[in-house]
Amino acid sequence: CGIVGYIGEKQAKDVVLTGLKRLEYRGYDSAGICVVPEGEQVTIYKEKGKIVELEKLIGDAKVEGTVGIGHTRWATHGAPTQINAHPHRSYSGRFTLVHNGIIENYKELMETYVPQIERLSETDTEIIVHLVDHFSQDGQSTEEAFRHVLNLLEGSFAIALVDSEDPSRLYAAKNKSPLLAGIGEGENMVASDATAMIHVTNQFKELKDYEYVVFDRDVLVIKDYEGKELTRETYTVDWDV
Ligand code: GLU
Repeated sequence: CGIVGYIGEKQAKDVVLTGLKRLEYRGYDSAGICVVPEGEQVTIYKEKGKIVELEKLIGDAKVEGTVGIGHTRWATHGAPTQINAHPHRSYSGRFTLVHNGIIENYKELMETYVPQIERLSETDTEIIVHLVDHFSQDGQSTEEAFRHVLNLLEGSFAIALVDSEDPSRLYAAKNKSPLLAGIGEGENMVASDATAMIHVTNQFKELKDYEYVVFDRDVLVIKDYEGKELTRETYTVDWDV
């Protein structure tokens, strides 16, 4: 299983699908992507089975946009079905998210914060995106809401989030699941490992547990769970060696 998030100048669909294919070795039972076209609704495509099935589903559809997130799922909560496949959208439709790992306290979080919400899937994942929506409706900025949610989550996760009201920025975080940032020229990304980004860049920043990252195509910032900015060296991987 794996995740990819991209923002830049290339077509996100191609960058994300290429990244997902490089993560196939990690194993998965379904796959999905979401691309944010400028000024339009976020489009989600997801399918049970291999990435080829996802590509068949997308077919000739015009999936244009330079911001996207993608996922290969190894089901832990809920059968491997199209509905349970990621990305998952929040109840208002504003936020879209992919997640690898397990949210151990998803039931408590659901009951405590959003008991009125009808679940849209059988996953432990969807609570994350509903909570971001919930806190942002309480008046928090997307980053504040994201940080708030991270402080509540128990378990393992690599996640990437897109806000359809401001798709010029992506949010990602990790705890006990792998995630790495890729730094390009006028493009930035995150993925579960470096091979999923080598078609874009050979410059990376390590992400540690209890950290999150906010990035647009030009700037990528790593912060701790209090929102304090952290410095992190960029390292170069020489793929020819
Ligand atoms: N626990 C989540 C699910 O079952 C994510 C699984 C994964 O790591 O792909 O949907």
